[in-house]
Amino acid sequence: MIIMKFKVCPQCGSENIEWIIPQNWSQWSCNDCSYTGLVIEVDKDTQKEIQKEWKETGRIISSVDEDEDK
Ligand SMILES: [Zn+2]
Repeated sequence: MIIMKFKVCPQCGSENIEWIIPQNWSQWSCNDCSYTGLVIEVDKDTQKEIQKEWKETGRIISSVDEDEDK
């Protein structure tokens, strides 16, 4: 099974994000919360966890990994 990953807001897990500055790949804006900054790539399950945690406790469980290990 292929796990699809997609970009979401690390704060609320929303896919409703916009790339606001074309020259700066790290600046995204979330339309569902006030987040701006780097976004993360997650699969559906992780997205659900982030959304649940954000809705129920207001906690941010994801972390933005700025240096990716390749
Ligand atoms: Zn958000």
